[in-house]
Amino acid sequence: MIKPVIAANWKMHKTVREAVAFAAVIKEKLGNLGDRSVVIAPPFTALSQVAEIIKDSMIDLAAQNVHDKAEGPYTGEISGKMLADIGCNYVIVGHSERRILFGETDGFINSKILSCVQFGLKPIFCVGETLPERKAEKTFIVIERQIKEGLKNLSDGDIRSVVCAYEPVWAIGTGQTAAPQQAQEVHAFIRGVMGKIFGRKIPNTIPILYGGSVNHHNIRSLMAQPDVNGALVGGASLDIENFTKVVQF
Ligand code: PEP
Repeated sequence: MIKPVIAANWKMHKTVREAVAFAAVIKEKLGNLGDRSVVIAPPFTALSQVAEIIKDSMIDLAAQNVHDKAEGPYTGEISGKMLADIGCNYVIVGHSERRILFGETDGFINSKILSCVQFGLKPIFCVGETLPERKAEKTFIVIERQIKEGLKNLSDGDIRSVVCAYEPVWAIGTGQTAAPQQAQEVHAFIRGVMGKIFGRKIPNTIPILYGGSVNHHNIRSLMAQPDVNGALVGGASLDIENFTKVVQF
């Protein structure tokens, strides 16, 4: 049985003061979660202070991005070594906004994932097809390529720290969630592809989250699918009441 993971991606929202206040309230509200993991991904500017607030709680901290090198002349970048140093546990890697708006390739995403595991960070590895790709019936081809390229050269030990997130690009921030059966179909496919790469047993331990307009109205039907092990939540994670309801689905 895979423990459900509900992860909040705040993207480029919230000042340090807002992020800290949110983290303090959510920590009180959620208390001892026990049967599920909660992860919040504030912007870089708020990571250290949010880490302080949640350090004695069940909530884990994620960064929204990472560079693949540990240090060096990469102006403006943040490394896995630095994120581990301030108490991050997870990093979102391969988000479609980074792939599309910032030109991140499968190869670069793979280097980032390798760097995460090197520094003890769990990558939340996002994959997903665009609307034209779905319409052209290329969903499975795209997902298989993203998985195979993104997880290249990971050892059996490395893959155990990966969390995968299926995020159809057409569902992100659009209010148009994938139907639970659509999500299930792709999640089962992802598990199958991972099984081909790493052997059949390993994928049964890897959480596969669904992301794309998740809210407290649709979370239950998504979580009822056998291969949906959690959610990566954007818009609905910005408001305390909404996010609490999603976590307590
Ligand atoms: C996301 O960007 O990861 C996401 C899932 O956003 P939203 O929930 O707003 O669709």
